[in-house]
Amino acid sequence: MSRVFNFSAGPAMLPEAVLKQAQEEMSDWQGTGMSVMEMSHRGKEFMSIAAQAEADLRELMAIPANYKVLFLQGGASSQFAMIPMNLLGDKGKADYIKTGSWGKKAIAEAKRFAQVNVAADSSAESGKFTHAPAQDELKLSADAAYVHYTPNETIEGVEFGYVPQTKGIPLVADMSSTILSRPIDVSQFGLIYAGAQKNVGPAGLTLVILREDLIGYAKEGTPTMFDYKTHADNDSMYNTPPTYAWYLAGLVFQWLKGQGGLAGMAEINQRKAQKLYAAIDGSDFYANPVRPDCRSWMNVPFTLANADLDKAFLEGATKAGLTTLKGHRSVGGMRASIYNAMPEAGVDALVQYMAEFERTQG
Ligand SMILES: *Cc1c(COP(=O)(O)O)cnc(C)c1O
Repeated sequence: MSRVFNFSAGPAMLPEAVLKQAQEEMSDWQGTGMSVMEMSHRGKEFMSIAAQAEADLRELMAIPANYKVLFLQGGASSQFAMIPMNLLGDKGKADYIKTGSWGKKAIAEAKRFAQVNVAADSSAESGKFTHAPAQDELKLSADAAYVHYTPNETIEGVEFGYVPQTKGIPLVADMSSTILSRPIDVSQFGLIYAGAQKNVGPAGLTLVILREDLIGYAKEGTPTMFDYKTHADNDSMYNTPPTYAWYLAGLVFQWLKGQGGLAGMAEINQRKAQKLYAAIDGSDFYANPVRPDCRSWMNVPFTLANADLDKAFLEGATKAGLTTLKGHRSVGGMRASIYNAMPEAGVDALVQYMAEFERTQG
């Protein structure tokens, strides 16, 4: 197997050990004579896979007993609608903290259902998203149904260094690109959601972790499939769940436990990010626009001093086995996504390539 270091923002790398195990079990899962893809989701084999995955996720994240874990479809983008449909209740109003492109999309969707108060817009002064607001800059409403934010903005590489305090109003977090990257205190959140394809598993699975007392208030007329209660009451098996993605996520959870859990992962992730930012900051040729205390551990955008060299940089990188480094079209330059499954050796190789490129072309 010849593998590259793939810096894609998502779908992104999966641990090689997980792919190998999936390969070994592909056509005959544990002596059943069938692939996980071919199993009934209601059979005892898949039920055991599903239950083990949930138990492992609960253990990894220390999810309290009064939270449900849902294994859904539709991506984080469907949650942009499901959240207001289910959580607004009779309040009709929600607070959103805007720190980047995904937060903007969440706001646009919420406006179809709710009166949205933008509690902070970190692009207000410069027109660019390069930091997260401080707690005392948040203009939270006393009567909001919930407060929504994006702990890690995948495109801009902006991360919150703290969990916003909301005086008892449920906090909703789009953790698509940061879930499982470090330990968090789940009890501070009303609802956490994440598309799986960045740091959990393959595309097609969406995780929702929500406090039980928030379930059961979907607005009148909400389609059955968009009501959290439907999925909570049926252990995410009201309809056919994304079985293979669920199974693969379960293998990733077991792999994470073998890495020392989220505390172990956090140490590795922080070290990987520090190495890359040190390489960028230590050079006049590379630059990252994000305020240092808000820099993402997971997504590291950077520019070259001369954008005419972007193409050569990317071509050379691909030749060196370092792929998908092109930045998002809205930001330009480069972006290295370094989720859990990116080995530290991948970051070392990138840092080395960057130095070499600067020396020969810069
Ligand atoms: C990728 C991403 C999304 C969109 O996820 P889909 O699963 O494609 O809908 C939303 N929010 C954040 C923070 C993301 O990184």
